[in-house]
Amino acid sequence: MRTEDLTGLPEGVPEALCDEGIAELYPPQAAAVEAGVTDGDSVVASVPTASGKTLIAELAMLSAVQRGGKALYIVPLRALASEKKAEFERWEEFGVTVGVSTGNYESDGEWLATRDIIVATSEKVDSLIRNNAPWIDDLTCVVADEVHLVDDRNRGPTLEVTLAKLRRINAGLQTVALSATVGNADTVAEWLDAELVQSDWRPIDLKMGVHFRNAVNFGDGSQREVQTDRSEKAESALVADALDETDDEGNRGSSLVFVNSRRNAESSAKRLASVTESRLTGDERADLAELAEEIRQVSDADTSDDLADVVAKGSAFHHAGLASEHRSLVEQAFRDRLIKVVSATPTLAAGVNTPSRRVIVRDWRRYDGDAGGMKPLDTLEVHQMCGRAGRPGLDPYGEAILLANDSETMDELFERYVWADPEPVRSKLAAEPALRTHLLATVASGFATTRDALLEFLDQTLYATQTEKSGRLEEVTDSVLDYLHANDFLDRDDGTLKATNIGHTVSRLYLDPMSAAEIIDGLEDGPRGTSKSASASRSRPAAAGSTASADGDEETAGFQTASELAGDATEDDSETDDADTADTGDEFTELGLYHLVCRTPDMYQLYLKSGDKTTYTELNYEHEDELLGRAPTEWQEAEFEDWLSALKTAKLLDDWASEVDEDRICERYGVGPGDIRGKVETAEWLLRAGEQLAQELDLPVVPVRRARKRIEYGVREELLDLAGVRNVGRKRARRLFEAGIESRVDLRDADKSVVLAALRGREKTAERILENVGRQDPSMETVEADSETAAEAA
Ligand code: ADP
Repeated sequence: MRTEDLTGLPEGVPEALCDEGIAELYPPQAAAVEAGVTDGDSVVASVPTASGKTLIAELAMLSAVQRGGKALYIVPLRALASEKKAEFERWEEFGVTVGVSTGNYESDGEWLATRDIIVATSEKVDSLIRNNAPWIDDLTCVVADEVHLVDDRNRGPTLEVTLAKLRRINAGLQTVALSATVGNADTVAEWLDAELVQSDWRPIDLKMGVHFRNAVNFGDGSQREVQTDRSEKAESALVADALDETDDEGNRGSSLVFVNSRRNAESSAKRLASVTESRLTGDERADLAELAEEIRQVSDADTSDDLADVVAKGSAFHHAGLASEHRSLVEQAFRDRLIKVVSATPTLAAGVNTPSRRVIVRDWRRYDGDAGGMKPLDTLEVHQMCGRAGRPGLDPYGEAILLANDSETMDELFERYVWADPEPVRSKLAAEPALRTHLLATVASGFATTRDALLEFLDQTLYATQTEKSGRLEEVTDSVLDYLHANDFLDRDDGTLKATNIGHTVSRLYLDPMSAAEIIDGLEDGPRGTSKSASASRSRPAAAGSTASADGDEETAGFQTASELAGDATEDDSETDDADTADTGDEFTELGLYHLVCRTPDMYQLYLKSGDKTTYTELNYEHEDELLGRAPTEWQEAEFEDWLSALKTAKLLDDWASEVDEDRICERYGVGPGDIRGKVETAEWLLRAGEQLAQELDLPVVPVRRARKRIEYGVREELLDLAGVRNVGRKRARRLFEAGIESRVDLRDADKSVVLAALRGREKTAERILENVGRQDPSMETVEADSETAAEAA
């Protein structure tokens, strides 16, 4: 089917597609049009990676807008939201407006109502529904990208419930679900009342194979000799082999290497740097040196230097410990073929939209806490990594290669991945933590007001489609309702379910009810060193299956609902500090409050290494008077270990709020700068939620706010005022303070040469900061003459 024959799209769109080089639809795209995707019909497209799923979504959304409707595109990762928005913005010249939900629903609300296409994560959409965003009612088309992620234990239920709710709010809503090739796409289509488009077609052939000894054995029976000697790992030999082959345009073949941990990504990148370095041109070396410098500037942590060192040689690593600026610099340079090889962890690979001639799946097993050991990756996951191989128009075919050390492993890899079909997706909704959150929200937003109505709503989920007997769902529903009622989040007089005021707040704040209960209890109890703690807290039955988990070396960034929504309640609160000083809450310390929020299931705690146990047990006894609520005893082993993991995480936050250097923190806790930011964002969000709960329940607000601001800026209390000025930050605030400038007022009136000296002679920065603090004459020109002496004096 030719694109110029497409109908129902805004004028000019088919021509623009032709100009982009899309003159002919790919077969799965044509099948989706046949199935009515441009006529408002629902479609599930289950096709391989890189076979043009995005265009199917675009055709659906553009034709919906042309009919006067409004479309929502749900992405699985926050990082992908801005990427997709930028992609869709090319339709603005044809009158189609695009917006991305940034998280602050209050300011988002009205503006998004004017957009034709809105991009958001499923958590964001869920939150918008809970907060009654008015434009939700106007939607006529919803697209779910990577819908197979309903299978994800942590995030799947939110996507599932969100789709069910949207379809309930808007009868006849066109639903377009994009999926990798999965074992049961027909069930997904049945659930969404959609036409199924299923295909194995790919724009370039993919050859999958296994490297063993001196050759790659491909699934199609062909072989490629790749010699490895004992001193060289197969990984290096395969990367070198791809690089030594140039395409018609003289470009060397790049590789993407998947490994199972951050540490492995970093060591692999280091090893591969010696392979790439010797194959660079002079121009490439110069460009890479510049890029490396840019990477070094991003943060002062060791990771910056480590990454810059390998990038200068044409290699890179990519994982959740990196700052997002790092990640995008690496992705762009890999797309520009400047970086020749990237060693990445699998979860993050979802974000790297970068075809590469060769994909090497080096580690096909990963540590799994639940299984207590190494576990093979799912076929679906490995197929998705392999799908990144091959650059359309440049490579004759893509090559995806697994590595084997012996012939038995080779056989296993063929069975498990090369020949195998991907697994079916299965709903994870019946897990208690998921239902706890979603049932409260469903009642609070008035979707269901009786137990029967609730079960009827749940009947519209994939879970119900996949389960013959409804017994399990009823059972969990009842136990969750008991929990919500016992914690005063829900009333159920005469069979009517109604959220209490605090229940409404918890749902709007997007907290797991169990997190809210923990925070409320902690604030009610107070520190153990005070009389408050003697009063018994409200009785709260513990719910089974807390979602709390230690992430250790696992990849979790982008999967934390907490940080996803951290921006939700962003407000300018700089002037509200003194509003409720009646309750100073002096007995609360920062460490105690950080520990409290780190104990909630919404925080991914740091992993407790074997040596850590003694360290944090000691720290626990040292600070036991500050910690809130009742501690488990050492005999309650699992609970006590959770308590210590929370303490370790809290200590990281406390270090950050005490101005400990970023690289020192990275070293002390074995984390990267991206982890620090992730923990800080999550804690900030939880403490902000804590402030609201405290306000409503008449519990101490001031200490919670202080603790929140201190991690927000990463400073001690005396710097809070200064650090809040835009462009100041923790380091500059400290230097200004040391120069005698202790507050915003001081800064506004300060001698310019002192400011300049404290800012190490950076004129532009000084001007910007003075302007931000409201100085009438921020220009530094007048002090130029003094600046050098002043800088010297400092
Ligand atoms: P997926 O989402 O299935 O992984 P994408 O939508 O990202 O794949 O498409 C991969 C690439 O193929 C994109 O660069 C896109 O511009 C290109 N593409 C999509 N459809 C066509 C087409 N019909 N003809 C040529 N190129 C296409």
